[in-house]
Amino acid sequence: MKIIGYAAQSATAPLAPFSFERRALRPNDVAMEILYCGVCHSDLHQARNDWGFSRYPLVPGHEIVGRVSEVGSEVSRHKVGDLVAVGCMVDSCQVCDQCRKGDEQLCREHHTQTYNDRDRVTGETTYGGYAKHLVARQEFVLRLPQGLDPSRAAPLLCAGITTYSPLRTWNVGPGSRVGVIGLGGLGHMAVKLAVGLGAQVTVLSRSADKRSDALALGAHGLLVSSDAQAMAAAQCAFDLIIDTVPVRHDVSPYMPLLDVDGTLVIVGQVGPIDELVTIPLILGRRRLAGSVIGGIAETQEMLDFCAQKNILPECEMIRMEQINEAFERMERSDVRYRFVIDMASLPSSYAWS
Ligand code: NAP
Ligand code: ZN
Repeated sequence: MKIIGYAAQSATAPLAPFSFERRALRPNDVAMEILYCGVCHSDLHQARNDWGFSRYPLVPGHEIVGRVSEVGSEVSRHKVGDLVAVGCMVDSCQVCDQCRKGDEQLCREHHTQTYNDRDRVTGETTYGGYAKHLVARQEFVLRLPQGLDPSRAAPLLCAGITTYSPLRTWNVGPGSRVGVIGLGGLGHMAVKLAVGLGAQVTVLSRSADKRSDALALGAHGLLVSSDAQAMAAAQCAFDLIIDTVPVRHDVSPYMPLLDVDGTLVIVGQVGPIDELVTIPLILGRRRLAGSVIGGIAETQEMLDFCAQKNILPECEMIRMEQINEAFERMERSDVRYRFVIDMASLPSSYAWS
C-alpha cells in the first residue's frame, strides 16, 4: 500500500511530504485510515535525534486515532468501520513474563515502537501516525470507547497512558497528594487523570503564568518551582510527584517535597539528569523511579476511564503542513496543551507520488 506522510530526512531538516509503502496485511493485521494524530514532545526529540538513535527518513506520530479500513483473515477484535487507536507500541514478543502479565512496554525483547523502529518480522522501518494510513497487529490496536470525542482522544494514547500508568502503579486515589512537574502535554493529562482518581493535585511550574490554567484543569494549587520560600513551605507535602520535564534538569530540589516513602517518578527526560543530592532520599526513605508508557490492557482501562469520567486533553487542532511551526512552538512551551493533526488536511496523493 502506497502511503503519503510527513517525514524528517535528517536531524536538521524540517518535516516534509514523503511517500512510502505500508506492508500488505498479515492474517492478524488491522489497517486503518488515520483521522487524528497527537504531537508528542517525543516526536520532536526523535525528529531532531536528541536520543541518538533516530533513523531517517523518520515519520513520527504515536498518538493515533483512526477508522478500520481492512482486516486480516484472522482478526477477531476489530472490524471494518470501527473507531480505533494506536499508541507508542505496535508489537512485542508476547511470550515473556512481562508481556504475559500485560506489561508489553517492558517486554524482555523490547517492544516495537510505532515509528523509528524495526518490524519484528521483516526488519523494515516502522513509520508512525503523521500519515494517511497505519497497519498494526490487532493486539496493539485499542478500541475507542463510545462517548470519547475522536477529535480530542488521540493524546490519550501517549500523554494519557504515560501519566495514568504511574498513578495506578503508585495506587493514587482519594486522599493521595500528587505533584506534577511541568504543565505541558503529559503534565496536563497527569492533572486531569489524578483529579479523576480523586487525588489532591498540585502543579509545579517554572512560573506562575499557568496558575489559572492549572486550576481550570482541576488542580488544587500551583507551586512555582523557582520560589525558594514556597518550595521550603511544601516540604513533605506529596506522596507522588510525576516529573514531565523534557530536558536535563536537577531533581534534587523536589525530593524534600516528598513525604516519607514518597516517590518521584521521572517520565520526561530520557538521558542524564543533574547530580542527585542523596540526603533527602536516604533520610526520608524517599524513592526516585522511572516509568515508560503503559501496557495494552492498562491503556484500554485508561481509555474506558476517560470515557466514563469525560476526561479529554485540551487540544489545538492543526493542519499537517503546520507541523514544523507546531514543533517550534512546542519547544518554546507555547502550546495549551497538545497539538493534534487533523489528517483530513493531508492530501491522499501528491503529483510526485
Ligand atoms: P511538553 O508538552 O513540551 O511539556 C513539557 C513541560 O515541561 C512544559 O510545558 C514546561 O512546563 C516544562 N518544561 C519545558 N521546558 C523546560 C525546561 N527547560 N526546564 C524546566 N521545565 C521545562 O512535553 P510533553 O509532550 O509533555 O513531553 C514531556 C517529556 O516526556 C518529553 O521529554 C517526552 O519525550 C517524554 N515522554 C516520555 C514518555 C515515557 O513513556 N516515559 C512518554 C511520552 C513522552 P512549565 O511551563 O509548567 O514549567
Ligand atoms: Zn509520546
